[in-house]
Amino acid sequence: MTLLEVDGIDVAYGNVQVIWDASLSVTEGETVALLGANGAGKTTILKTICGPLTPTAGHVRFKGEEIGGLDQDEVVPKGIAHVPEGREIFGDSTVKENLRLGAYANRDGMDERMDRVFDIFPRLEERTGQQAGTLSGGEQQMLAIGRGLMSDPDLLLLDEASLGLAPVLVEDVFDAIQRINEEGTTVLLVEQDVNHALRIADRGYVLESGRISLSGTAEELADDERVTASYLGG
Ligand code: ATP
Repeated sequence: MTLLEVDGIDVAYGNVQVIWDASLSVTEGETVALLGANGAGKTTILKTICGPLTPTAGHVRFKGEEIGGLDQDEVVPKGIAHVPEGREIFGDSTVKENLRLGAYANRDGMDERMDRVFDIFPRLEERTGQQAGTLSGGEQQMLAIGRGLMSDPDLLLLDEASLGLAPVLVEDVFDAIQRINEEGTTVLLVEQDVNHALRIADRGYVLESGRISLSGTAEELADDERVTASYLGG
């Protein structure tokens, strides 16, 4: 089943258009990577899916229902969680309080969901009472992903989950994303780290200057000269 369908969207900030006629789809169970250089428009597309931005043309459909133009508060209960670039955790609140906030739209089974988060990220369980602002960068990223899982989403949107992390933590975070997907959550991830993204993704799209220029299976993209030349230093 197609879970998410982005169909020919244009997106602008005021009068400045940054996305042109972008289409992509995500099928239930997949991990899909949205790749592109700095400023290509990846974050803009995620924000158009999850709420703050409204497309000026085209459609965003989730489970067949139009969601283009809905706010984040309206989108979360439908089954979409967004882990933003920069994490945006509440630094003065504890790890546990941050996780509870992630469940605001769906409190049923909150304890079980928290157990699942701790199972995936044992480091968070060791630090439930710690102020989130004092966590390391990697732990904060784990908390941001964990908070996203607390709404029990069908679709997890991840924006640059690996950004700024030490290589060993990048591996941990991608392993966790892979596990989250294997346990049934569909994932759309935005990444500049093409190697890692294509290792865990089923399919991908390449965004260049606001337009989707290429799409294919992870293997096809990893072998494509245009991807290797642009992003892998080939
Ligand atoms: P990065 O990997 O650097 O985060 P990105 O691919 O996610 O880049 P976006 O953040 O979506 O790119 O930005 C796409 C374009 O939109 C850029 O030219 C950027 O300057 C512009 N842009 C982003 N946010 C705003 C804003 N709030 N107002 C005006 N222009 C914006």
